Amino acid sequence: MKIMSINAGSSSLKFQLFDMQDEKVLVSGLFERIGIDGRYTIKYNGEKITENIELNDHTQAVNILLEKLIALNIISSLDEIDGVGHRIVQGGDKYSKSVLITDEVIQDIESFKDLAPLHNPAGLLGIHALKENLPNAKMVAVFDTAFHQTMPKASYLYPVPYSWYEDYKIRKYGFHGTSHRYIAEKMKEVLGRDDLKIISCHIGNGGSITAIKDGKSIDTTMGFTPLAGIMMGTRSGDIDPSIIPYVMEKEGKNAGEIIDDLNKKSGLLGISEVSPDSRDIEQGISEGNWKCALAEEMYVKRVVKYIAEYYVLLDKADVIVFTAGIGENGINVRKEIVENLSALGIKLDYEANDVRGELRKISTDDSSTLVYIVPTDEELMIARDTLELVQNG
Ligand code: ADP
Repeated sequence: MKIMSINAGSSSLKFQLFDMQDEKVLVSGLFERIGIDGRYTIKYNGEKITENIELNDHTQAVNILLEKLIALNIISSLDEIDGVGHRIVQGGDKYSKSVLITDEVIQDIESFKDLAPLHNPAGLLGIHALKENLPNAKMVAVFDTAFHQTMPKASYLYPVPYSWYEDYKIRKYGFHGTSHRYIAEKMKEVLGRDDLKIISCHIGNGGSITAIKDGKSIDTTMGFTPLAGIMMGTRSGDIDPSIIPYVMEKEGKNAGEIIDDLNKKSGLLGISEVSPDSRDIEQGISEGNWKCALAEEMYVKRVVKYIAEYYVLLDKADVIVFTAGIGENGINVRKEIVENLSALGIKLDYEANDVRGELRKISTDDSSTLVYIVPTDEELMIARDTLELVQNG
């Protein structure tokens, strides 16, 4: 069985094709600058092909992708692709797991776009492009929000007028659910237990931390939108909402413009005034840039705050997991975070921590809690869900 996972952005489309017999990635790549000029990168057999090519829309990008798969002998016919899984950011409170895509599902994704104006329309572009090019393959929607549907009401409600929830569905949805679910399944496999209390720290350019009990999300840091929670590359995370009208007045901006500043000009970038990328921040620190040092200190402080909160919520934790770009590769950021957790008896094995992108235990044997690095794999999760629904859905 061959399954493709698709992650469509407004001007990009990432893909991976899996042979599900051994969950091997046959080919992966990215179409970008769709509707602007166009470029693709395809990786297979250890080779990388890049070409600038006009891409008017997502349908054309998928058309070229499928032609290339045949031309490169990766598949001999389009019928070999049995299913396609699509990453969809917002599934509202209706979808608590992945589903086969029907007209009703498409309408729902469309109707949730109010809640995810940048992401859900992009997901639909991907669905339509694949449906047009592969009319016989089964399509599956895998929602970022689904894993968090198990949160209790006390976690997902905001302390605002209750009618806002009833009338407008104002609540915490949470995101990165596919990654947090992967972490939960991987830790179950690694530790051989399913009654685990896990604090999953997905910290990349975007970031969220999730408290997982017995394989279920019970709280998470992102909220109504992915702007909430910890500090991120360019996003502020939690701030006092009164700042918004105050700066609107000072700068003569509207609410949308301020939200844009909070999404794109804040976080590590906003404080360092150098870059949203933690590698550049570390470089700045080594050159004595105090704003970079402050940005990292604030970043670590906010991550630690939530780990501590979830440690209490879970009534201690069995394992803290670091994943995504910074979690997997940020040796110094991990060190700073774990050192700041010493009050909880959590201790870092410095030698073990000196690694990038590897599944590994990085806590000492006398640490109160296990600490692991686990490389995440959202694409594989999407492919597994798709296979399951293609076979049994
Ligand atoms: P996204 O949220 O866009 O998927 P990623 O998970 O790829 O982001 O994470 C991007 C972040 O990971 C950046 O801040 C980057 O600096 C960091 N990162 C990636 N590789 C390394 C590395 N080798 N060392 C330190 N940080 C890294």
